[in-house]
Amino acid sequence: MIRFGPAGLGGVKEAVSNLERYAKLGLKACEIAFTYGIYIKESQEKEIKEIRDTTKKLDIELSIHAPYWINLNSKEKKKIEESKKRILDCCKIGDMLGVNYIVFHPGYYSGMDKEETYQNIKKEILEMQQEIKKNKWKVKLAPETTGKVNVFGSIEEILLLVKETSCFFTLDFAHLLARNQGKISYKEIYENFKGFNELHCHFSGIEFGEKGEKNHKITPESELRKLLEILPKNKNIVIINESPSPVQDSVKALKIYNQFDR
Ligand SMILES: [Zn+2]
Repeated sequence: MIRFGPAGLGGVKEAVSNLERYAKLGLKACEIAFTYGIYIKESQEKEIKEIRDTTKKLDIELSIHAPYWINLNSKEKKKIEESKKRILDCCKIGDMLGVNYIVFHPGYYSGMDKEETYQNIKKEILEMQQEIKKNKWKVKLAPETTGKVNVFGSIEEILLLVKETSCFFTLDFAHLLARNQGKISYKEIYENFKGFNELHCHFSGIEFGEKGEKNHKITPESELRKLLEILPKNKNIVIINESPSPVQDSVKALKIYNQFDR
């Protein structure tokens, strides 16, 4: 089964009505965008329970996108600690909300070589997993494949993290297309991840140049078709859309997908 849904739950007050609107449109996933701040607070217990109960009732899978301001490979220890705190705060709220995956961009090379960067990020992920275990939070870290050549997060780097830390991953097809300047197909990207029965994906239209990602744009129907054609039917796949019109684009994707099924 493929679940489609937008990045964006909306504010705490609109969350339940937004989820109801998404469900009416046939959408079965939603990613809470804490990208510019964790706006749902632990103290909002009543609201958190309402959101959680609504997603259960409507069978919508919730995930969280952690703040953009994260670098697990900074030269400054303080920045690493702050980054981890942001991710772990997402884990805590995520557990309360019944979220499975905490999506984040792991960090930058920060003038270090790729191997050193990888080792540093791996160490921090292992430490955060200890914390998650200690607190019995039922969430998984899902570092994302990133869209810029000079940012940590290639297919190889994310796969190695998964292998060596047992973390999960977020597979952003648009980012990888941009990172490889379009010289890779969705099929080639998917081939790397075909061993997994669950996939948490991002997909939107994207503009890119030689450095990779420039910005997300409305998702072209032709690109959606190309992607959906190559995805298997017998796996649990979530596809979150992050375009400027994430709800409309998710509905568009669902329509195309349903045409294939017939
Ligand atoms: Zn992202």
